[in-house]
Amino acid sequence: MSDTILVTGGAGFLGSHLCDRLIEHGRDVLCVDNLFTGSKDNIQHLLGCGRFEFMRHDVTFPLYVEVKQIYNLACPASPVHYQHDPVQTTKTSVHGAINMLGLAKRLRARILQASTSEVYGDPSVHPQTEDYWGHVNPIGIRSCYDEGKRCAETLFFDYYRQHRLQIKVLRIFNTYGPRMHPNDGRVVSNFIVQALHGEEITVFGDGQQSRSFCYVDDLVQAMILMMDCGAEITGPINVGNPVEFTMLELAETVLLKVGGRSRIRFMPLPSDDPRQRQPDITKARSLLGWAPTVSLEDGLEPTIAYFRKLLAA
Ligand code: NAD
Ligand code: UDP
Ligand code: UDP
Repeated sequence: MSDTILVTGGAGFLGSHLCDRLIEHGRDVLCVDNLFTGSKDNIQHLLGCGRFEFMRHDVTFPLYVEVKQIYNLACPASPVHYQHDPVQTTKTSVHGAINMLGLAKRLRARILQASTSEVYGDPSVHPQTEDYWGHVNPIGIRSCYDEGKRCAETLFFDYYRQHRLQIKVLRIFNTYGPRMHPNDGRVVSNFIVQALHGEEITVFGDGQQSRSFCYVDDLVQAMILMMDCGAEITGPINVGNPVEFTMLELAETVLLKVGGRSRIRFMPLPSDDPRQRQPDITKARSLLGWAPTVSLEDGLEPTIAYFRKLLAA
């Protein structure tokens, strides 16, 4: 059987870093992506490597390849992008999961789902533990993403129970780093790009809503640990950095790091925007021996350097 590792969404932000790390580990990687939000620029440096292959493909269509493990990351992740074509977002999560689970079933391959803290919606339990069922609006503007990801989790656990597949479900909390899309509207990239341009920093609402930000290298480490740990560990497991910041604190930190003269501009809060979010990572610590190592201050350095270079090009 092929030893190749399939990464769907491999030309995106997280996926491209995962491909990098797998190639560094000496693995063969098949990167599948329809380039909706991802870019060949993110994997350009890997294209010459004999152990790396790129295939342009939409996971809502069946995929017949021979692989040993599947990391399923394909799905737009920022509110601006997933709300652009919400029907396609749900299709990507749900049909994409069915196809990748069907592939895993045929090959008896292990499969990891990049799920999300969004399955908790606007949480009433804080910090969020994996046994909390969430507080999700099923018909709002975020629902295509939240409910799509929830349904994908359901499919993973039904394939596990019904077909005894080896599944791994990670609930990823806000992650940032180089190769985030400069226009995807996510808060870290928005604030950095605005500060670098000397434009106003757009804080939505009163800026008191909170998020916990994980640096991409830590996150990729957790994904590989999860994939390679014992089959009995199915998850769901939360992964993220539990240090919590308000958006106003984030704006101030970014301004301090970038310098310049940007001012803060308050804008309306989008609907269903969660008030607070912080992972309880007890399970990740005990089952994976994982904890984040990079502080927001440290992780912002290479992220800002990346955007500085990108905007100068
Ligand atoms: P991203 O948008 O950079 O990456 C997603 C990738 O999937 C892109 O390369 C895109 O082109 C591709 N894609 C989208 N639809 C596809 C389809 N139908 N077929 C094939 N490819 C498709 O986002 P990201 O931040 O790298 O997120 C990767 C995964 O991690 C997503 O599943 C996302 O839900 C999950 N996640 C990310 C975060 C985060 O903070 N970055 C948090 C929670 C969960
Ligand atoms: N599938 C795929 N690649 C494979 C095997 C299956 O893309 O190697 C897709 C196919 O579209 C199928 C879906 O996965 O409909 C679910 O497969 P499963 O075997 O669970 O169910 P089926 O629909 O074939 O009964
Ligand atoms: N946000 C903000 N200004 C921006 C972009 C986002 O204040 O320019 C806020 C947004 O309202 C949310 C938080 O930052 O409360 C995180 O938003 P993001 O889209 O990055 O992630 P998510 O809401 O999916 O966690």
